[in-house]
Amino acid sequence: MNEENLFEPVPTDDEEVGVEKKLRPGTLREFIGQRRLVDNLRVAIESARQRDDVLDHILFSGMPGLGKTTLANLISTEMDVHLRTTSGPILQKGKDIVGLLTDLGRGDVLFIDEIHRMSTESEEYLYSAMEDYAVDIVLDHGPDARSFRISVEPFTLVGATTREGLLSEPFRSRFGITEKLELYPPSDLREIILRSAEVLSCSIGAEAARILAERCRGTPRYANRFLRRIRDVAQYRSENNVDRLELSSADVMEGLQRLGVDEHGLDRVDRKILEVLLSHNQPVGLKTLAVSVGEEERTVEDVYEPYLIQRGMLLRTPRGRRASARAEECYAPLASGDRLTEEGVHQQEFRLP
Ligand code: ADP
Repeated sequence: MNEENLFEPVPTDDEEVGVEKKLRPGTLREFIGQRRLVDNLRVAIESARQRDDVLDHILFSGMPGLGKTTLANLISTEMDVHLRTTSGPILQKGKDIVGLLTDLGRGDVLFIDEIHRMSTESEEYLYSAMEDYAVDIVLDHGPDARSFRISVEPFTLVGATTREGLLSEPFRSRFGITEKLELYPPSDLREIILRSAEVLSCSIGAEAARILAERCRGTPRYANRFLRRIRDVAQYRSENNVDRLELSSADVMEGLQRLGVDEHGLDRVDRKILEVLLSHNQPVGLKTLAVSVGEEERTVEDVYEPYLIQRGMLLRTPRGRRASARAEECYAPLASGDRLTEEGVHQQEFRLP
């Protein structure tokens, strides 16, 4: 089995996209965890429906894979309106966003993923669309400049961002509802794993689900991806002799080992980050860290750091990043310059938590 890039934020092949869709909860009731957020959404949706009104604009922030796109889908289903999906990086020219806005029907949901990466020009068109349901188009420049207003149907903008801090204050303040998705506790992930196993027509033992839930970075997307790789392991072992696969703890351990995930739920890049931090006697800057581990600064900041901080392994100080005492305790061999061989790491990984 080949290793895959676990941190590619958006699945690229058709099969992966198809499986993600299949695993997506179909109703808000099926959405597991994030209870406070879901409760707030339910209240907002129900009251908008009762008033026959358009739902307020919503901003979701949080790490990749926590369910922002899923929630946008569920909002449109619950409101019984159409969903139009786009993303910040492709909205560079003002006319792109104007085209999308004028195409919307009353109450439709416009979902913009990675909304912090949209151009300022597009953002400015959105301002008046969000507030007044109209866009002002300026033709020509200088003394010949003329502007006219196009109205758009009242709509709901659902924005998703991994970097809420990069949104300008005027933009952020135009969202009536702003919600942050947190990493999921193992109990919620266990439920997600059991449900996903059902959808994938296999079953997973209670202990096996517990082990996996502890090691999937608090993120449903990884829980689901890891589960599929583990199902491959079980399938391979069973040599197609069974109707319904039952995934055991041994399958989970082998699958995680193949994915390079250790007993603390850390993968190779996480360990590389700790190795760099532990080998420095002083805080390390983000740039140096990113170059040392061969990842983009954004990926280190959005994906790896939050998880390492949550596991109590990394500390952010005003002067840079440091490894925590806990990291030193767990990964001491990395600190002493005595790099673990892959085999050594795997031997460590195979201790059950
Ligand atoms: P994001 O948009 O935040 O990157 P997605 O909404 O694409 O994340 O979620 C990634 C995958 O995780 C989806 O396939 C979805 O099935 C699953 N998922 C996310 N949140 C939940 C949840 N609360 N319950 C069940 N599955 C979830």
